[in-house]
Parts: sequence; C-alpha cells; structure tokens
Amino acid sequence: MNAPPLSVDEALDRLLAAAAPIAGVETVPTLSALGRVLAVSQVSAIAVPPLDNSAMDGYAVRVADLAVEGDTRLPVSQRVLAGTLGQPLVPGTAARIFTGAPVPPGADAVVMQEQTTAEGDSVVIHGRVAPGTSIRRAGEDIAAGATVLTAGTRLAPQHLGLAASVGLASLPVVRRLRVATFFTGDELVNPGEPLPAGKIYNSNRYTVNALLAGLGCEVIDLGTVADDLETTVRVLAAAAEQADVVLTSGGVSVGEADFVKAAVGRLGHLDLWRIAVKPGKPLAFGEVAGKPFLGLPGNPVSVFVTWCLFARPFLLRLQGVMEVMPKACWLQADFDWLRPDKRREFLRARRVADTDPPGRVEIHPHQGSGVLTSTVWAEGLVDVPAATPIRRGDWVRFIPFAELR
Ligand code: AMP
Ligand code: MG
Repeated sequence: MNAPPLSVDEALDRLLAAAAPIAGVETVPTLSALGRVLAVSQVSAIAVPPLDNSAMDGYAVRVADLAVEGDTRLPVSQRVLAGTLGQPLVPGTAARIFTGAPVPPGADAVVMQEQTTAEGDSVVIHGRVAPGTSIRRAGEDIAAGATVLTAGTRLAPQHLGLAASVGLASLPVVRRLRVATFFTGDELVNPGEPLPAGKIYNSNRYTVNALLAGLGCEVIDLGTVADDLETTVRVLAAAAEQADVVLTSGGVSVGEADFVKAAVGRLGHLDLWRIAVKPGKPLAFGEVAGKPFLGLPGNPVSVFVTWCLFARPFLLRLQGVMEVMPKACWLQADFDWLRPDKRREFLRARRVADTDPPGRVEIHPHQGSGVLTSTVWAEGLVDVPAATPIRRGDWVRFIPFAELR
C-alpha cells in the first residue's frame, strides 16, 4: 500500500496522458478571438507585403541613372502615394514616392528624402545608393501558402494582428472549456457577509475562478459546499452534469470532515496521488459521470501552487493546447535555504531589482501554505530540488508567474 510518492513530473505525465482534448470548434471574429485556442492551422492566401514597396519617403530611381560620384539631377516624372499603383518608371527620371507605396516597375532603389534636394520639377540626388536600398520586398514577411498560425496556439494580440495581415476576418477556435468549481469547508464564509468567530473567508473561490477565467474557460461556480457527504454528492453530480471538468478545493486530505473523496468514489472513481512536492498535499484525480475531476488541496497557497504545476497544464491540454509548460529561467539565489525538505519544493519568490551582478532572486520570509500574502508579494516560484540546500549565489530555477497566464 505504501508505494513511493510520485514525482512532480510523473504526476504531470499521468495528468496529460488522461487529458483528452474536447471536441467542438466554433468560428469567431478575429477581433474577438483573444485568448482562444486556434483549432485549425491557418495558411496565408497572399504574400505580405503583396508588392515591393518603399520603406521611406523619397524618390524611386534606377541606380544606373545615378552618377558614380557627386550629385545627379533627375526630372520627377510621377508621384506614387501609398495605396496607389504608379506607372513604369521612365528611364532617366525619378518618381516621388511615399512610405508603403508600391515601387514602380523599372525602379530598383529608393533614395530617402533626406539624401535629396527638391528643385522645381526636378530632384537633386546626393550620392549613390546600392540596388534594393529602402525597398521592402514582396513576401518578405509572409510567402503565399505559408502556415501563419498553428493549431493549438493560444491567441495573443500579436497572433490576431498576424491573422488580420493575411486577411483572416474570422478564426476557427476550440469551444470554451466548461469548468464547474466548488469549494468545501464548514468554516467558509463569502466576502460581503459578517465573519462569525471560528470562520474564515472563502478565498480559493476567488483565486481559482479568476485563474480559470484567465485561461478562457467558462466557469460554472457552484460556490461553497458544506462538509457533509450527501450535500457534496449532490453538488458533485450537478457539477459533472453541466461541465467538461470538475475542479474543487479542500476536503481531500485525511481529516474526518473530508468528504470529497468519498463523494467522488460514490459517483465515479478517485485516485489520491501522493506527490513528492511542497506545498501540495495529495492531489485527487478521478472521474465523475465520465468527466475528469481534479481536487486541489484546501490551503490557499497549496491551491495556487498545485494550480500552476498541475491544474493549468491539464486544463490547457483539454483545450488542445500543445505548449502547456511554463518556460523557466535561471537566476542566482539572493537567499540561503539550508534546511531543504525531502520533497521538491516551490518557494514564493521575486527578482531583486537592479542588482550587481544582475539576475538575483529573493524568497518571501513566510513560506507557510496559508500565507496568501506571499503569492501577491511574489512574481514567481523558485523550484528547489528535493533535499538540496541552496546557498546565496547558487543558480536556481525560477518560474515567472507571467508564464502562467
Ligand atoms: P482542507 O484540505 O479542507 O482540510 O483545508 C485545509 C486548509 O485550507 C484549512 O485550514 C482550511 O480552512 C483552508 N481552506 C480550505 N478551503 C478554503 C477556501 N476555500 N478558502 C480559504 N481557505 C480554505
Ligand atoms: Mg476542509
């Protein structure tokens, strides 16, 4: 019965192996696609830019018409504005041209205005330029037929701009993942209500629902649930019926008031994984009415950390996202951590501004799993390997919260 605890990586592998991406695609206007997951890779039907065009305000010329040394006077034979097509360039003349305007056929360079002097109907060009100067080539950004966006991408503002640049007014995206949440504990009171002695405010509800909203999920918030088996079973059944996934906090440790395990066991099946991680009690993973169930711990900091390590990648993969792991970086410890836990530990930490040498990270002085202020003070997590003391100046792995959007 006492199998060794799972490593963080083993637990994550199991979760991702169990994450079958949901079916269902909808087409949304590109303008409203922020944060959605692209369902089908997108190919550009056009080259961008479509034509060779000027990178400067100036004069389009044939380099062969310019003197090898000194000035060249050329009559100005046409004006080409952005959004118009010029005429083929008459040899021995220059075309006045503006940024973004197509380079007229026959011209092979643009001389920027600052290198010229306008004189009546002519222009004096000072010096010579190489062929191709100040010309943005057709297709230099995107070739016709190129894949511009890959299925499984979470769409950021720059993806929407790129889609628009190839003329895509709408995009096929994965339908929103429906996640039902509830938060167990007889001690929990909602903000807005008075706080009787012995009670605490339900903070996990606010953290978790907001984290889900940040992943673009549709949240079915079933609120606070009392520590009572029948109530838990009833709410759990309702949650599984309405949602693609059920996510809860609390009630999965070994106390007498922990009814979530029993409720999941009654309606489906539950695995309680012992994971060698701190903070993070056992992570409850199971299935209710064919829907995955993830039971986070109750302690607010444990909720936040297990969200980062397990819930987030799992929920992203359910939405078909391929890159689910945050990118970490390495910084030098500006702290000592001399009595490490035998489990891998994730410390609330932040970068120290303007240090010499640069790139140092400090940890919050209170690493308790109930100290929620540490998550606000911090900008990320330092990943401390099991049983490994850290001394000031050691290199440590840092996972920025910015990677966890
Ligand atoms: P549990 O896993 O249910 O035993 O909860 C562990 C600890 O987390 C206890 O101190 C609870 O009071 C606290 N806790 C559980 N749920 C919440 C919540 N929704 N908001 C804030 N604290 C909570
Ligand atoms: Mg509880």
